[in-house]
Amino acid sequence: KQDLKGQTVAVIGLGKSGIAAARLALARGAFVLGIDQNENLAPFEQNPLFEKHCSLKKILGYFDNKLLKDADRVIVSPGVPLENYGISSLMQSGKRVMSELDFAAEVLPRCTKILAVTGTNGKSTVATFAGQMLNHLDIKTFVGGNLGIPLSEAAFQCLTSSLKRPMFQVAVVEVSSYQLEIPNKYFCPSVAIILNLTPDHLERHKTMKNYAVTKGRILSQMCNSKMGVLPLGNQLLNESVMDYVNEFNLAWIGDFPGVKIDMETKAASFKIPVIEGVTKLQLGAMKTLGTHNYHNAAVAALSVIGLDIGIDAEAIGSTIGILRVPPHRMQIVHNDSHGVTWVDDSKATNVEATYTGLMGLKEQKSVILLGGLAKVSDMQGSNGFERLFEPLKFHRGVVTFGSSGTMIQKILLANGLGIPCINATNLKDAVNWARIIARYGDAIVLSPGCASFDEFRNFEHRGKVFQELAFLS
Ligand code: ADP
Repeated sequence: KQDLKGQTVAVIGLGKSGIAAARLALARGAFVLGIDQNENLAPFEQNPLFEKHCSLKKILGYFDNKLLKDADRVIVSPGVPLENYGISSLMQSGKRVMSELDFAAEVLPRCTKILAVTGTNGKSTVATFAGQMLNHLDIKTFVGGNLGIPLSEAAFQCLTSSLKRPMFQVAVVEVSSYQLEIPNKYFCPSVAIILNLTPDHLERHKTMKNYAVTKGRILSQMCNSKMGVLPLGNQLLNESVMDYVNEFNLAWIGDFPGVKIDMETKAASFKIPVIEGVTKLQLGAMKTLGTHNYHNAAVAALSVIGLDIGIDAEAIGSTIGILRVPPHRMQIVHNDSHGVTWVDDSKATNVEATYTGLMGLKEQKSVILLGGLAKVSDMQGSNGFERLFEPLKFHRGVVTFGSSGTMIQKILLANGLGIPCINATNLKDAVNWARIIARYGDAIVLSPGCASFDEFRNFEHRGKVFQELAFLS
């Protein structure tokens, strides 16, 4: 267990993932050097996770890169760009630099199968659905990574568990592009999904090509691979995985081998690579909102079947009715006394997410709350707010708000939007307008297509405020 005794492990970035990695390093017997630039961060010593340990040191502000050179390993949290702290040059010099994911995966029991999900939008939903399916079928499953609990926490639990059998049969891991910047060695998914790829996080990746190459890496790391899952027709992604495609079996979202969905009958058909035959799954029992969630459930089912642990489409059929979206993802939060359904899709922080959400709500006339802090990549071009013109046609009205509200309203009106579009100052004002516009049977949907930082701490905070306002109705 104490395989790192006598070694120094530097952990860069002391957010949730970094803290979990530090705790894992301690459990592995290492001396831990924690590095973060955030002055408001509580000292390690005040963190109850570390009260029994004293081998921690936190360095704030300027620090001497020599400390990293002297460390035996450097673990990088997902939030830290590789240009910082001279990480790139450390990697070039041959220093052992690892992502938090890889550090965790190194000690996960080999029999714990990894199902990894990445993509621009829908990762958390697909990971959550896959976890719900597996747990409902009595497969001990960890769900986490970029979402919720860091993988290092799962690894810590496995390492310190007194159980004879493995704690988790499957680890469903949501992986962000940031977690793929450093090539991984131990993080070897049995099934790896790239759900989609649209412009986002370009301030960090600079170009779509870089973004695709980073995401594509999730497939390069598959060992004993059963299946890699890709969206149909994404040229950039296809090119980015070309070097590895011979090493594993590909399945497609929207084609065979892979999964096809018939939205008329709400049936998904699966053809798993290498395995004979086609199986079907009825998705009609789903209680979630939006057709995109049928797709998310179908992809989750495809990957669970692809794990090859004896779960077939028939078994998954019994889980469809229990699937629930994670909070702030097209979450129905209130049905008010005026017959209006309030829907929190605060996690739609880019135009593409809002586009997909609204396309999936064609049959539910809604008033859409759109705005916040628009992302640079969403300000212009074919992926910009103009793209929302089409799904908005199906709806009752739009209320724009926040720092980009005026700009979004201008773009939509310039396109001759055929429904009312009002600009409000902030979310509260937007909700008041939405109440006036909505009719009996409508929904009021917060699907902002923007980041939240102009008015809120994060998208969760924005969603909570929306929910509180909803309950006043
Ligand atoms: P992520 O974890 O990738 O950020 P989430 O599952 O949290 O994705 O969903 C974020 C938002 O993306 C949702 O609120 C919804 O509007 C939209 N979304 C959900 N599923 C998909 C999908 N398959 N394709 C595109 N957008 C989606």
